[in-house]
Amino acid sequence: MQRYTLTIHGGAGTILKADMTPELERAYAEGLRIALEAGFAVLEEGGTAVNSVKAALVVLEDNILFNAGRGSVFTKKGVQEMDAAIMDGLDLSAGAVSGVRNVRNPIELAAEVMRNSNHVFLSGKGANDFAIKQGIKLEPDEYFFSQFRYDQWKAIRDSDNYSLDHTNQDIEELMRDRKFGTIGAAACDKNGNIAAATSTGGMTNKKYGRIGDSPLIGCGTYANNKTCAISCTGHGEMFIRAVAAYDVSCLMEYKNMSLEEAMNHVVNEKLVSFGGEGGMIGVDAKGNFAMLFNSTGMYRAVKTSEDFQHVAIYN
Ligand code: ASP
Repeated sequence: MQRYTLTIHGGAGTILKADMTPELERAYAEGLRIALEAGFAVLEEGGTAVNSVKAALVVLEDNILFNAGRGSVFTKKGVQEMDAAIMDGLDLSAGAVSGVRNVRNPIELAAEVMRNSNHVFLSGKGANDFAIKQGIKLEPDEYFFSQFRYDQWKAIRDSDNYSLDHTNQDIEELMRDRKFGTIGAAACDKNGNIAAATSTGGMTNKKYGRIGDSPLIGCGTYANNKTCAISCTGHGEMFIRAVAAYDVSCLMEYKNMSLEEAMNHVVNEKLVSFGGEGGMIGVDAKGNFAMLFNSTGMYRAVKTSEDFQHVAIYN
């Protein structure tokens, strides 16, 4: 029987138990578990991998703890600009948006670009205008505000530094102690079709117009039934230079590596070789999964039709 699987992440980075309170740890685990259940229910009911990853991401975007949708980080200008992408491994259709503002669920907008536009990627005002035209839900600035992200931004807004989703420390420490709160999902459905999706607020104090790896097809997000569906999290600039998600697919397609072998090569060798901190999750069309990272932690969870469920944060 075809195994079906959903794996999700809520960001990777320097996530240390010593910095966590038991309450916060529980809140993160609970947030992941609720998103996992929402996405897995779609698979159980015979829904598509695309609908499963979308359902999981909507739940995480609505959760203020994660750096996507509500709770997104602040840019240099003190606003939230969000990126998202979704890809269907069945026919390689894809949709992506970058620099969108006030869109409650950027992943819904990316899916709308995939299904109902002639394009793959819309950015900025064009993407926002498309959201309005398609009746995608918008929210006022206050909806996206979180004190935690605001304080992170305040600590570095007068500098030229930009930082991955971090804790309250001085700049030196911030640059060392990186946390990435991007969210993502990869699913294999009952028909053996696979899909991936990623959504993010990007990096704190990022420059106006900066685009990370998350919405770039092949960099932070990729899906192809022949190989794998992948969603990445980490220092976006490095993942772009590594064409990280597509590289996993290439190693599987052209070198016959398994998902785990290919992902291990990209995460623990290629990215490490030029300081690309972070991780990724993925599935193949047989429902195998992998969740690997080269940082100290990655918020992650997986559930399979074989009754296996796992939620974890640290190494
Ligand atoms: N990869 C994201 C970016 O560079 C950040 C993250 O994973 O948290 O925008």
